[in-house]
This record gives sequence, C-alpha cells and structure tokens, in this order.
Amino acid sequence: MAKIFCIANQKGGVGKTTTTVNLAAGLAQIGQRVLVVDLDPQGNATMGSGVDKRALPLTVYDVLLGSASVAEARRPSEKAGYDVLGANRELAGAEVELVELEQRDKRLKAALAVVDASYDFVLIDCPPSLSLLTLNGLCSAHGVIVPMQCEYFALEGLSDLVNTIKQVHANLNRDLQIIGLLRVMYDPRITLQAQVSDQLKAHFDDKVFNTVIPRNVRLAEAPSYGLPGVVFDPASKGAQAFVDFAREMVERIRGM
Ligand code: ADP
Ligand code: MG
Repeated sequence: MAKIFCIANQKGGVGKTTTTVNLAAGLAQIGQRVLVVDLDPQGNATMGSGVDKRALPLTVYDVLLGSASVAEARRPSEKAGYDVLGANRELAGAEVELVELEQRDKRLKAALAVVDASYDFVLIDCPPSLSLLTLNGLCSAHGVIVPMQCEYFALEGLSDLVNTIKQVHANLNRDLQIIGLLRVMYDPRITLQAQVSDQLKAHFDDKVFNTVIPRNVRLAEAPSYGLPGVVFDPASKGAQAFVDFAREMVERIRGM
C-alpha cells in the first residue's frame, strides 16, 4: 500500500518542488517505487523530472476532471527512476471547473486509490496556496511534509498551514497529520537561521526532521537540465542531504 504525502507550504519559493523531486529521486535510489503528482499549474516538478509539460497529452487536470486515469496520464522520469503525473497551465482552470463537480475535494484521492498497489510512496507537490487543488492533495494524503526556510517570518506562515491541516483532519481526512518540518536552504553561518532552527526544535520537537537541507547551488542548477539534484550531481552536499532525508522518511513511516 502506498504512503501518500503532500509537500505543502502556502508560501512560494520555499523549496516545495525541490523537496518533491529530490526526495522522489532519493527514494527511488534506495529501491522505493515512487509516483510524483504535480498539483501546481506552473509544472515545475514535471519539468524538473525531465518530463516536458508542453508535450503532455494528458495531465493531472484530466485525472481531476475524471476524463483520464492515473495509469493513462503518468509518464516515467527515466533518469530519475520514478513516475510523474504531470501538470501544466491547463490545471489553473481546474479550480473553477472542480467547484461544479461532486466530491470535488476527493477527486485525486479516488484516482490514486486505483494505483495504490503500484507504489510505495506518492509525493504530491502542492501549489503555493490553500486552494481547492491543495485541498485535493490534503484529502488524499496520510501526511504533510512542510519545507521551510529558517527565516523570521517562517513561523508566522506556519500557523495558517497548521490550522488548515487541523481542519482537514477534523472534517475531511482523519488520516492526515504533519509528518514533519524540513529545514531547507539552510546556511549555518547565518546566525538568524541557527536561531530560528533552534526555535523550531523547541516548538515542534520531534516533528522537525533530523536531516537539514543546505543551501546548495547544484540543487538550483539541476532543474534546467530536467533532473533532480540527486541525479544531476550525486556527490553534491545538497544531493547527499536529500538521500539522507529519503532514508529518514523510510524510517519515520515504519509502522505508520
Ligand atoms: P517552491 O516549489 O516552494 O516554490 P522551489 O523548490 O521551486 O520552491 O525553490 C525556489 C527556488 O529556490 C528555486 O530556484 C530552487 O532551485 C531554489 N532552491 C530550492 N532549494 C534550494 C537549496 N537547498 N539550495 C539552493 N537553492 C535552492
Ligand atoms: Mg513549486
């Protein structure tokens, strides 16, 4: 049975997509079967996995609207070793079209149930909003991974996300929990980051992952080659951190 995780944070540019594709590649490297679902109309996780979003005949949009199955719409990310249910700009329209449909927040969940036996992990890259798309992600998932930069305003945005997750847990999906906060783009030389990191540990305790993802330019360069950093430059510090994180995830979900 697949364990399904949303990579969510309503802020943009905090490292959601980088976390999704590199965790996927790290998990694939240690033998896990992984599906990445791109729920962001920007399609960055799709492109960053080496799948051309402009050339996709079917995407997650068709799956949400019920005109295609996951099996029909997914594509292999050949070099990274996982499957991708891609997205492109078309997905921006889904928000409006979904409102008319029955079970509008559970469409992705229903579609993923069919491929449950094919994967160990499904990773859902959420858009930077708490929208109906994100809600579809949260209703499908067993847990949420929250990438965050250790900056002054990081904690402020977190409370909105935590409240949303609590509400979804109470009303729509009893399985949902925060799996953990992942510190990303971390630079220990910056005192403020070290302080915020300590605060996170103090507040959230074991909900903060042990692995810390450093700021590493190779992770930022990789998407332009259509590769996760883990595949683009396996020896880089960023890639190694994501492989460590993949191991930590496998450990953390044991018994879940
Ligand atoms: P989001 O999906 O939350 O909008 P991204 O994963 O696209 O965020 O990251 C935003 C930008 O930061 C991208 O240009 C990405 O390449 C870069 N980035 C993400 N993580 C790192 C990191 N650990 N080191 C350096 N650059 C990073
Ligand atoms: Mg993104």
